Formats: sequence, C-alpha cells, structure tokens
Amino acid sequence: MYTTQMHAARQGIITKEMECVARKENQQPEYIRQLVAEGKVAIPANKHHTCINPEGIGSMLRTKINVNLGTSRDCKDYNLEMDKVNSAIQMGAESIMDLSTHGHTEIFRRKLTSECTAMIGTVPIYDSVIHHQKDLGELTAQDFLDTVRLHAEDGVDFVTLHCGITRKTIDQIKLHKRKLNIVSRGGSLVFAWMSMTGQENPFYEYFDEILDICAEHDVTISLGDACRPGCLADATDVCQIEELVRLGELTKRAWAKNVQVMVEGPGHVPLNQVQANMEVQQTICSGAPFYVLGPLVTDIAPGYDHITAAIGGAVAGMHGAAFLCYVTPAEHLALPNLEDVKQGIMAFKIAAHAADIAKGIPGARDIDDKMADARRVLDWEAQYACALDPETARAIRDSRAPEEGHSETCSMCGKFCAVRSMNKALNDERIDIL
Ligand code: SF4
Repeated sequence: MYTTQMHAARQGIITKEMECVARKENQQPEYIRQLVAEGKVAIPANKHHTCINPEGIGSMLRTKINVNLGTSRDCKDYNLEMDKVNSAIQMGAESIMDLSTHGHTEIFRRKLTSECTAMIGTVPIYDSVIHHQKDLGELTAQDFLDTVRLHAEDGVDFVTLHCGITRKTIDQIKLHKRKLNIVSRGGSLVFAWMSMTGQENPFYEYFDEILDICAEHDVTISLGDACRPGCLADATDVCQIEELVRLGELTKRAWAKNVQVMVEGPGHVPLNQVQANMEVQQTICSGAPFYVLGPLVTDIAPGYDHITAAIGGAVAGMHGAAFLCYVTPAEHLALPNLEDVKQGIMAFKIAAHAADIAKGIPGARDIDDKMADARRVLDWEAQYACALDPETARAIRDSRAPEEGHSETCSMCGKFCAVRSMNKALNDERIDIL
C-alpha cells in the first residue's frame, strides 16, 4: 500500500492517476512513474478529491495553466465565482486555485472538490483568519496547522505554503531596501505575523508536522515564494535567491517523506532574466516542477497584464517552467470579472502552447499544421475547428464579411487575397481583381 503518488512510484507501483497522465501525454506509464519517483513530475490528486481528472506537472510534459478565483470582501458572490470556475474548465484550464478571503469559504471549497475535475489549490493562510475568526496577530502556529489539515481533509490537491521565509528575511528585507518589499499576499501575512508575534514562521518551524498531514491525504505542497519580485527592479535579488535556496532544501525534506512538491517562482522579471531564473530554480530545487506567476516582463501595462505576463510565461515555459499561473487584465487593479478571466485564460493557453512547441513536446505542433492546411484551402470551418477560441474567430469574420462573390476570402484583403491568388496561379487559373 502507498500514501502518496510519490510513495507508490518509489515502490514501483503504477497508479491509475499515472496511467491517466501517461495517456494524456502520449507517454508510457513507466516513464511517468519514474519521473514521479524522482520528484520531477507531480500529480496533485488528494485522495478525497475523487472526481479529479488527474494531470501531471513537469517540465518534460505539456505546460499546464492555473486560474485564480475566489471571493473577496468587495466581490462575494459565490455563484459568480462558480460561473468563472465552469468557464475556466470549459476553456481548458487544468487547475483552479480558490483564493477566497471572505464568507463561507468551507462550503465553496467543498463544492469545488466534490464537483470539479480540475486540480484544486488553496493558500491556507488566507483562510486561517476566516476559519478561526481571529485577527492575524491572535492566530497561533497551531491554528495555521489546523487550517492546513482542514484543507487536506476537504480534498484540496495542492496548498501554497510560504515556508521559505524566516526571521532572517525580516532583516534581509530591511537591509536590501527593495522597491516593492513583499508583494506576495501570503508572504506578507507570514512576514507580518512574525513581526507581530516575534516568533519563527510556523510553516517553516513545523514543516515536518505539515509534511505528515500532506503525506496522509496526498496533498502536494506548492512552496510559495514570499519574496517573488513585485517589480523589475527587485528581480533576481538577494531576497528572492536566498528564499529559493531554502525552498531547495525544503524540497528535499518533503521528498524524504514522499510528499510531492512544486516550487513557486516570479513575479516581475525582465525578459532577459527569465531563462536564467528558470535554470537556477531547476538546479537549486533538483528539477522539482516550477510554478510561475507570469512572469510579467514590464511594470507599466495595467489593464494589459495578461499580455505582459503571457510573454514572460511563454519564455519561462520554453526554458523549463512546468505550470503557469494566469494573469488577467484586472491584475494590479481589481478582482477579475468573467471577461477578465476569459482573457487571462486565452493569453495563458497561447503562452503554454507556444512553450510546448518550442520545447518539442511530441505532437504539440500538430494542430498548428492542421490550421495551416485549412488556411491554404480557405476552409473556414476547418480553421475554426483548430482555433483555441472558435467562437471569437467566427464572430470577428462574420461581423466584417467579405464582399459578395468573394466569400471564400476575408475582408482583410478581399479580391487581393494572397492565398486565393496563389491557389489560382499554381492551378494556371485566371486571377480577377477588378
Ligand atoms: S483575404 Fe488576406 S487575410 Fe484573408 S484569408 Fe486571404 S490572404 Fe488571408
């Protein structure tokens, strides 16, 4: 018998989850088992999340995307959040993180793990205040551990825990005078708790107890990066790298107890530093799957941060990031609405797909080649069938239809359609333009 997917893999057992991942990735189950045993692939699949359609996360597999959702004090409609969840899954998101910070978080979380086929992740420290109904400074280390246990029992597949900052980080942040200090919400809460109580980070101090909880329920730990840079000026600085080194040590401690791990990464990073960030993480964290937020490659595009982040995400994926957390146009501005969620997902589906093509994932480019064939013969229905968002593609073409008699083209060039001209020229046909 086994506790976690990693425990099974290390005993030579191929689980039904590994078989499912192998099918989806066009790989042999034994190959997936080996990677899970080494920690290079994580299959977040809590034993209580029985309706999950499992996915593997690893740099040699298809790049997966995560969608952040959840209520806040200002936007607390759970039905609306559920609409976002359903539309995210329909659009192909492999993972949903419930970041709710208001209301009946337990009911919503349980609804997610009982109905959603996607992986479900949470950040238990957000929920600690809500669940225990205590303000941050009154919470005890035991309260935080109890929240982790509650989420594990509720069927959450992975939890972000900011285990990598310690009391030493308080001095580092003061000494290095970052432009944006700490921008990770969970990281800032841990930092504030340490400052207020004078105690060590409970997620670091009681890491072994947390590992026991995660091993029991097979919860994957996503090691949060509290010091992820919040602006280009803070990228790849001492605070970020010092935390990453600790995350590398914690990765090994987790693996020693057969607990699956992902490591979280930046953040805001200039494009020319993205590759180095991916390579340093892979080395320091012994190939553990890297889960990045963006990275956003410029700080000056609020309203368009799904684009700044997708540019960084594509490059990160190409150089080894396994899991991309989407960013929406509402980033830095507001809680995303349904349209923002859609824009963020599309941007990241594109980034993940571009990365998969660049890193040579078997079969990743097939659909692009199909699209090219459909374009050559001006077969619009076949083009929509290949499109990531067929509805939008169709709506744009239909709203600006080509003039009569040239319905095979589109209104971009009409009678000057290069594809049509070439098809006719190569068939020795006459090309009528006037
Ligand atoms: S009209 Fe222009 S844009 Fe449209 S299909 Fe032909 S070549 Fe492409």
